[in-house]
Amino acid sequence: MPAVSAQQREQSASQRREALKEVFAQARGCVRCPELAATRKTVVFGAGNADAELMFVGEAPGASEDEQGVPFVGRAGKLLEKLLEEIGLSRTQVFIANVLKCRPPGNRDPLPVEIENCQEYLLKQVELIQPSVICTLGNFSTKLLRGDPTGITRLHGQPEVLTLGARSVRLYPIYHPAAALYTPRMLETLREDFARLPDLLTLGAPQQPSPQVREIPEPLPPEPPRPDPQTAERQAGGPEEAEQSAEVDQLGLF
Ligand code: URA
Repeated sequence: MPAVSAQQREQSASQRREALKEVFAQARGCVRCPELAATRKTVVFGAGNADAELMFVGEAPGASEDEQGVPFVGRAGKLLEKLLEEIGLSRTQVFIANVLKCRPPGNRDPLPVEIENCQEYLLKQVELIQPSVICTLGNFSTKLLRGDPTGITRLHGQPEVLTLGARSVRLYPIYHPAAALYTPRMLETLREDFARLPDLLTLGAPQQPSPQVREIPEPLPPEPPRPDPQTAERQAGGPEEAEQSAEVDQLGLF
């Protein structure tokens, strides 16, 4: 097999990042879930290192995330950051996303149809970021990525190799930090599970499916245009700059 130079690897990482930005641009105009599209302030696509070895997948944005356009910025996010710090990582080294990219009104649970509508974005993220380890936070992401209803209480802390689309990863389900905020016993368990992450990362990526299927995926078909002047205006601080500024803010997240 021909050796891949650092330059070629770098180029492909930057190509993947560009492709990720395209997927984000499509998600930003998504109206597949009419209720979520009508009530959201921002599409919270994900943030962090677009070439990360470690990816976290939570449930859905809450109020703070919807305001800021960034995942895990509320209390659960602060805990996630602390746990990352304890294992010597920062959020800029990992990629953080959610099952749903839009906030369900009143923070209700994601509906099955919403999860189905949104899963294509998550699978594209996995395919483009190419993480070795995906840490699912809580039940929704664990059940979705495993394609199985077994709950987090039974599965947490047990890594398994899973093939998602064209990418094989080490899936590592752990409790959702929001649940651990209020239950000291759960926080202890979450901390113990977190402590095993560095060893899991040391293993690197599992063996990948055949290389032909690992090409950069086609972008998603375009969503119909959706004028959203209020959101853009609020993000930009004024109507004229709105379009450009929203783009700069959010695409700079990874
Ligand atoms: N909970 C989640 O699952 N995701 C967020 O982004 C914030 C809280």
